[in-house]
Amino acid sequence: MNLIPQIEADSAGICRIRHDIHAHPELGYEVHRTAKLVALTLEKWNIEVTRNVGGTGVVGTLRGSLEGASRARSIGLRADMDALPIQEINTIAHASRNAGVMHACGHDGHTAMLLGAAQYLAANRQFHGTVQFIFQPAEEGGAGAKAMLDEGLLERFPIDAVFGVHNWPGMPANTMATRGGALMASSNRFRIDIDGVGAHAAMPHKGHDPLLAGAQIVTALQAILTRSKRPIDPAVLSVTQFHAGSSDNVIDQGVWLSGTVRTFDDQVTDLIERRMQEIATGLATAFGCTARLSFIRVYPPTINDASQSAFAANVAREVLGADKVIGEIEPVMPSEDFSFLLQKVPGCYAFLGNGSGEHRGQEHGNGPCELHNGSFDFNDELLPVGATYFVRLVQAFLDQPG
Ligand SMILES: [Zn+2]
Ligand SMILES: [Zn+2]
Repeated sequence: MNLIPQIEADSAGICRIRHDIHAHPELGYEVHRTAKLVALTLEKWNIEVTRNVGGTGVVGTLRGSLEGASRARSIGLRADMDALPIQEINTIAHASRNAGVMHACGHDGHTAMLLGAAQYLAANRQFHGTVQFIFQPAEEGGAGAKAMLDEGLLERFPIDAVFGVHNWPGMPANTMATRGGALMASSNRFRIDIDGVGAHAAMPHKGHDPLLAGAQIVTALQAILTRSKRPIDPAVLSVTQFHAGSSDNVIDQGVWLSGTVRTFDDQVTDLIERRMQEIATGLATAFGCTARLSFIRVYPPTINDASQSAFAANVAREVLGADKVIGEIEPVMPSEDFSFLLQKVPGCYAFLGNGSGEHRGQEHGNGPCELHNGSFDFNDELLPVGATYFVRLVQAFLDQPG
C-alpha cells in the first residue's frame, strides 16, 4: 500500500474527529453540530468555507498554488454527514450519546476521510486548479445532495468531475471496487389505494370487495418483471405492506398496499410505473373497484461515468495495489443520493472495503458488522487509505491538461 506518510502521521487526529462525530450522531438535515465541526476544522486549515448550502451542507474551497494550466480544472470530493435512527448496541468509548441515533452507515468515517484529505491538501497546494470539498446532509432518504444542487451547488462551486466513497462491509479492508455505468439502483416508493363497496361478509354480492381486487393486483404486478420489461434489464418490485379489513365478518370498503421498485435505468422505471398504473386501474375496474397509484421517485440510479471510473480505479490501484482494486464489480440494489450529483457531472462512486468486523473489540455489539446495524462501526484503519485516495485523485485529475 502507498499511503502518504504525512496523512498516516496525522491519522490519530483524524481518528479523534471520527470518534467525536460518531459519539454525536445527528439525523437528516439536523446535522448542525457535525456541520459546524466540519466548517471550523476546514477554517482552521485556512480553507475557504461556505455554510448552509442545501440546509446544513458545507463546501470547502481550496485553490492550488501552481499557475500555468491551459485551463484551470476543478474537482469535487463529497462526503455525507448524517446518521440513522438506530439504537447503538456498541459500548465503545465513542459510542453514540444520542439515544436512538447512530452512525450505522459509516458517514462519520466518510466525513473524517475527506477531512484527512483536506488537511493534507491545505498544507500541500502544489496543484493546478481548485478542489471543492462537499459535505452534505441527509443522504439517508432526505436527498441532501439534491438540496445542495437546488441551492446552486454547481453554479457557485463549478466542478469538472465529482468523486465519492462508501465504506463496504464484507469486502476486505483496504480493497476498493467500482464500475463504469450503473453501480447502485434507483429507489422508488409506491402506494396503491383501492376503493370498493363494503358489505356483510355473508352477503358479498351486495358489495365490491377491494381486498380481492388488491390480492389480484399484488400477484399481477409481478408479471411486469417477466412480461413487460426486457429480460436483460434488472429490476425489483416488492409489495411490502397490504392493509385491509378489521373484522372477520365485514368486507371493508377500502384497502391499500405499498412497496418499493428498484431499477438501474430511468426508462425501466418509467415503464414499470406505467404498467403498474394500467394493472392497478384495470384490475380494480374488473372487480368493480377503483385504484389510485402514487409512485414516488426517491433516488435515481447511481450511474458512474465510464472514463472517470477507469481513472479512479487506476488511482486506487496506485494507492492500494493492483490486486486490491476491482474495476468492474457487479452493481448492487441499495441506492445512494450521490446519484443526483452524477446526473449533472461525470464522476465515480466507489466502495472501500470495511472488512467483516475484525477491527471490532470486546465492547462492540455481537451483531453483524453490516451497514444499518446497531453493532456496526466504521473501520479506523481506512481513514488514511480513503484520505490518500482522495488526495491522489486530486493530484492526478488536476495534473491532466485541461
Ligand atoms: Zn445508509
Ligand atoms: Zn451510507
